[in-house]
Amino acid sequence: MADAVGLVLAEEVVAPEAIPPFANTAMDGFAVRFADLASASAAAPVTLAVVGTVAAGAVADRALEAGQAMRIMTGAPMPDGADAVIMVELTESDDDTVRCNASVPEGNHIRRAGDDLEAGTVVFEPGTTIGPAHVGVLSSVGRAHVLVHRRPRIGVFSTGDELVVGPVPLEPGQIRDSNRPQLLALVAEAGAEPVDLGVLRDDHDEIDAALRSAVGGCDALITSGGVSMGDFDFVKQVLSSLGDLTWMQVAIKPAKPLAFGVLLGTPIFGLPGNPVSSAVSFELFARPAIRMMMGRSDTQRTHEWAIADEALGRARDGKTHFQRVVLSQQSDGWHVRSAGGQGSHQLAALAAANGLAVLPDGDGASVGDRVRVMLLS
Ligand code: AMP
Ligand code: MG
Repeated sequence: MADAVGLVLAEEVVAPEAIPPFANTAMDGFAVRFADLASASAAAPVTLAVVGTVAAGAVADRALEAGQAMRIMTGAPMPDGADAVIMVELTESDDDTVRCNASVPEGNHIRRAGDDLEAGTVVFEPGTTIGPAHVGVLSSVGRAHVLVHRRPRIGVFSTGDELVVGPVPLEPGQIRDSNRPQLLALVAEAGAEPVDLGVLRDDHDEIDAALRSAVGGCDALITSGGVSMGDFDFVKQVLSSLGDLTWMQVAIKPAKPLAFGVLLGTPIFGLPGNPVSSAVSFELFARPAIRMMMGRSDTQRTHEWAIADEALGRARDGKTHFQRVVLSQQSDGWHVRSAGGQGSHQLAALAAANGLAVLPDGDGASVGDRVRVMLLS
């Protein structure tokens, strides 16, 4: 059941029985009849006969009569005839008797049956996102299985002749594939099931064959690289030839190029190749779609306003910029500073960042300006 966390309920859940199922004590102490203790105080304790002990998981073997008490442990069912609990701290006892040093109101420390949930109550509506507390509630009403929206399977490819995988020495011109592991991690973090589809060469036929064979087994595909203006940007070409494709130049920095298409009902996100660009593009376009496929209502990341502790400079270029920043919460609210190099190849600054400052076209933010920031976690 713990692996349902982050998934969305696809059924109504009703409590088949009351929770708690029986009246029980919230305290270790003595089950009593409150009327017996009406006159009790520290100066004039009332002494009752102890006629038994009820542990959690047990049931009293008799009913309580006037002048009697039963030792009782937290969670144990109230004995018949008892209508209050006096906590052990307000008593002094030996094997046979208990001196009660205070009076207690009727119902004292009793958790009544159905106090949490009455039988027949709708506990959760369809569309509820399951968190750890939901797992607890579902277990408390006896549900070991629930119907949820499936975790979508998201296939991830890298593309590029320059990419190598594994602990091998780099030949001239080669770099290590960082997009695929990062995108697989982003898919998992979004709550979906990542499917590693490997690295594709910059080859039209190889990309074509790989996309065609992958769509059947995945609910969506994500590629990185090959959607820009270069001579070997075949992902864009293949997606166009496969049919329903939109190739875009989005007015944002980083992550300007983006291809999106649907092949045999499966959406394909062609993200840009630069490592920061592919991550930002994932955040802006793929992640909300994946969350929607999961049935989640919280498809968007949280945004906060933050005070710039340093200038977040940018050039005017007609685009909205997403700068990698470090957000911190201080006594007067959120503050923000740059996380480092803002090049789309400078992945280290993304790892240092916990937010993306959303800077509309203009001169950026000066010290003290309020900046809109998208939280990355
Ligand atoms: P492209 O969009 O294919 O032209 O790639 C743009 C830049 O991103 C180039 O510098 C590529 O080497 C780099 N790049 C593309 N794919 C990856 C990847 N999987 N890992 C790291 N860098 C990549
Ligand atoms: Mg490439």
